[in-house]
Amino acid sequence: MNLIEKSKKYLWLPFTQMKDYDENPLIIESGKGIKLKDINGKEYYDAFSSVWLNVHGHRKKELDDAVRDQLNKIAHSTLLGMTNIPATELAEELVKIAPDSLSRVFYSDSGAEAMEIAVKMAYQYWQNIGEPNKQKFISVQNGYHGDTIGAVSVGAIDIFHKVYGPLMFEGFKTSVPNVYRYPADAPAKCRDEALETLELLLKEHHEEIAGLTIESMVQGAGGMIVMPEGYLSGVRELCTKYNVLMIIDEVATGFGRTGKMFACEHEDVEPDLMAAGKGITGGYLPVAITYTTEKIYEAFYDDFTNLKTFFHGHSYTGNQLGCAAALANLQLFKKENITVQVARKSEYLHELFEEIIELPHIGDIRQLGFMCGIELVYDKERKEPFPFESRAAYKASLKMRELGLLTRPTGDVVVFMPPLASTEKDLKAMVEIMKKAIEIVTLEEAHQIAATHT
Ligand SMILES: *Cc1c(COP(=O)(O)O)cnc(C)c1O
Repeated sequence: MNLIEKSKKYLWLPFTQMKDYDENPLIIESGKGIKLKDINGKEYYDAFSSVWLNVHGHRKKELDDAVRDQLNKIAHSTLLGMTNIPATELAEELVKIAPDSLSRVFYSDSGAEAMEIAVKMAYQYWQNIGEPNKQKFISVQNGYHGDTIGAVSVGAIDIFHKVYGPLMFEGFKTSVPNVYRYPADAPAKCRDEALETLELLLKEHHEEIAGLTIESMVQGAGGMIVMPEGYLSGVRELCTKYNVLMIIDEVATGFGRTGKMFACEHEDVEPDLMAAGKGITGGYLPVAITYTTEKIYEAFYDDFTNLKTFFHGHSYTGNQLGCAAALANLQLFKKENITVQVARKSEYLHELFEEIIELPHIGDIRQLGFMCGIELVYDKERKEPFPFESRAAYKASLKMRELGLLTRPTGDVVVFMPPLASTEKDLKAMVEIMKKAIEIVTLEEAHQIAATHT
């Protein structure tokens, strides 16, 4: 059996309809810089950073060396009741770069776990300080926080989450300020309405609400919805006013992705809890973190017999190889001035987008730093989507693959999240491929739809 046959026979891939995979299989063999190579030797731009992780490109010498050096000492020992060197050093570095409110780091292995932990900590915090009625969570419509049941319970993307309805714990959902879908082109009004909706909810229910979960500045999986200016800071004010913990999800946006170390810095927001992951190891190894304030930490600090301990942990929590990669990653952020570079290069990227926004089936392009979404529409004037069956963005991604670029859409939105190390030349080459693929596929789809209507 060759590798492709084996992959079809034995594997079940995440977030994948395997019928699609069987029709278009792909096996990556190696990577270098911002390119991936498959088993046939064909090369592709990694235009989605291997699902939003990669920072410095693949096989970055400093990261490779850090993992190898650590391997010469030890690969893993537990963090239950003890610690290790890289996990300890890394915690200090992570607190240095965090918003001022955050002073403690709790490790896990994935973004979903980091959010699950934040939710459990927020819940137990109120229990521990003698406010047992604060048990529920508010989350934002169309939000995504990962795929464990707790993370899904505070998520709200119907196409992923609806089927698990009966398994989820109940909570409140507040509206999302989606400027493109707002009737008038009025970001400030769209923001104010969303904040008013949230305030009504808080006014009525704050006594039973433990926390609010929210993606930082951009909803990622929900379609790269960039929040209007002043929204996140407005949410912070409301959480403070109504005594509700603000849990910010920086899993996608953290570590330079939006041109700041953390996206909440765009509005000087200081959360009570914050989850991060993805770019933390430069895209090398599974490490995630939940940051908390000292106040929350102290609510768990007591004699064991008072049972205030946070009873949560994972086998690979604080893994040495992962933490060593993360330490080297943070050193590279300093040495190569990554966040400033991303902020600068994203202006150039914005200029490239100006040239393609004119395409007949591109409705909107949303961008914050290197976190971008290109929304495809059937009728641009009326902002009418392609029919669900058409799968225009998926087909466009297959065409891009043919042309030497990998990405994955979310709904009708073509995702563009290149490695932060991508140069202006790389960005231009990638945008050109995307433009070409989108043009070919959308015209073909629109033509077919028009033909079946007559
Ligand atoms: C990817 C993502 C997660 C989940 O992270 P995993 O490491 O895939 O579990 C959570 N929140 C956001 C905003 C994400 O983009």
